[in-house]
Amino acid sequence: MIESTQMQRPKLVLVVDDQEINRDSLGIILEDDYEILYAENGKEAVEQMRAHANELSLVLLDLMMPVMNGFEVMEIVREDEQLKHIPIIVLTAEKSAELRALQMGAADFITKPFDMSEVILARVGRIIELSEGRQLISAAEHDRLTMLYSRNFFFEYANRLYHYHPELHLDAIVMNIEQFHTINALNGRDFGDDVLRLIGNEIRAFLGETQGIASRIEADRFDIYCLHQTDYRALLNRFQEKVSSLSRSTRIHLRMGVKPWREGVEPILLFDRARTACNMVRGDYQNPLMIYDEDMRMRELLNSRLLNDLRPAVEERQFQVYYQPKYNIQVDPPRLSSAEALIRWKHPDLGMISPGSFVPLFEGNGLIGVVDNFVWQEAAKQIARWKEKYSFTLPVSVNLSRSDVFDPTLPGRLDHLVLDNGLSYKDLKLEVTESAYTDNAKQVLDVIKSLRNKGFEIEMDDFGSGYSSLNMLSDMPIDVLKMDMKFIRNIEESETDRRLVSLILDIARYLKVSVVAEGVETEKQLEILRSGKCDLVQGYYFSRPLPSEDFEKLIEKEIAIERN
Ligand code: C2E
Ligand code: MG
Ligand code: MG
Repeated sequence: MIESTQMQRPKLVLVVDDQEINRDSLGIILEDDYEILYAENGKEAVEQMRAHANELSLVLLDLMMPVMNGFEVMEIVREDEQLKHIPIIVLTAEKSAELRALQMGAADFITKPFDMSEVILARVGRIIELSEGRQLISAAEHDRLTMLYSRNFFFEYANRLYHYHPELHLDAIVMNIEQFHTINALNGRDFGDDVLRLIGNEIRAFLGETQGIASRIEADRFDIYCLHQTDYRALLNRFQEKVSSLSRSTRIHLRMGVKPWREGVEPILLFDRARTACNMVRGDYQNPLMIYDEDMRMRELLNSRLLNDLRPAVEERQFQVYYQPKYNIQVDPPRLSSAEALIRWKHPDLGMISPGSFVPLFEGNGLIGVVDNFVWQEAAKQIARWKEKYSFTLPVSVNLSRSDVFDPTLPGRLDHLVLDNGLSYKDLKLEVTESAYTDNAKQVLDVIKSLRNKGFEIEMDDFGSGYSSLNMLSDMPIDVLKMDMKFIRNIEESETDRRLVSLILDIARYLKVSVVAEGVETEKQLEILRSGKCDLVQGYYFSRPLPSEDFEKLIEKEIAIERN
């Protein structure tokens, strides 16, 4: 890369001398290899340097000049962030000036009258090479914006500290900015840069008070490896106050994860855990600090175990589908109307694992499709079996995850299930949680609409736990609202909850969709819902989710009622 740019364009050198003869003779020596600019005094030299700060590879600088001499030029350059990286070779006739020039930052000197042209070319070439090498190293070593270490150097140094200074007990701290992309989008990148720079400055101030190193690992993530601290809340507050002072109108929230020093734990692992802790409090503005502890370690171990065990579990048929009935409560006695298919994992070592502990995990890893596909197939076969065995059609709803909805093969796979099992579309209902509609609503809505147009019935699951506005709701392709369990839980004692439930029932009537109340456990809850004209109820009051063999008793009972 460097070689080829060299071929394309000669490097730029500035020759500064008040004597025309000197400028000319240097020009002749250099012109075959370099592009050359000239200045006749120090003032012009500084102007040229400013104008070409990023292209200039070298300055050849005479010391004795009118207007502004070479020492004054070096003084200005030394203080100027934009200019100080440009190497200067001093042109001098007096030996005595050499030392002073070197002290002021000159890279080398060439004596007058000029040496052989080969010598001059060699010196110029060598200084340029050295300076480029040094810039490369320092650019790689530091993040330009915050002047903290870059990622690689940070971990290199952290490892050295860890190995050579075992007496230092160093904690890993990861700090992150909430919604940084939104801050950038709303306020512009310059503002975003200001925020990052401010945090960088404060971290450097902090490291001046204790021992440690820090890096901006990427975009808005900062890693700090420092002596064990006793009060992390205070530390986070310190940074939070700084960034809050930057703008009144934009709220900036930081979050922090900490993994305290542990004997024998290397920096890379320490920071992995601090990052996990930091991610756990993402979006939690009330409690933006998390210290990695034993519970979290166990949870992580379990998660990685479950991830590993997924494939064999499918092959060895450890998954089983349970069915929970939904009853129509507007008739007396209540009638079995449909069921929900719910996954169960019978793990050979860990026993029965509830979907609450693996569904969110697999959703995060894109593996939930494997589970869902299995459940859908089982449910479709089961509907067909019951049709055959009892001449009775029990519609079953299955849960769709957000990632299923984005899978382009979804409509085709669902079609197959229906056709291959001789079902009609309305036999297989689809539950999609409210929160799946929240971001990228358009694409989700398009997919769901097309499924509904085929004839699938769509149930919005956990309604009331997300943030659909009434406005959005009226455009949503849904047939049923499943009211979130939390509304039912305290309905007996809480007047507010009763009002909320009745509000949801009103909304459903307005939208002309029916309502399923989930989590109904008591007779009293049932009565409240019945008098509020809720259509359907699912909950332990009627039955827990059951394996298909046990569920058959409910079907048989239903058939008996039908015959009477
Ligand atoms: P969900 O779809 O809202 O399912 C209802 C959950 O409420 C089930 O929990 C059910 O057992 C529970 N439940 C029903 N009645 C009562 C009651 O009266 N009291 C109480 N306390 N709980 C009741 P489960 O089976 O543990 O499933 C939890 C969640 O896991 C489900 O919530 C669903 O979001 C997810 N899930 C379950 N199976 C699947 C699946 O096959 N695929 C996907 N993607 N998610 C699934
Ligand atoms: Mg559900
Ligand atoms: Mg639900």
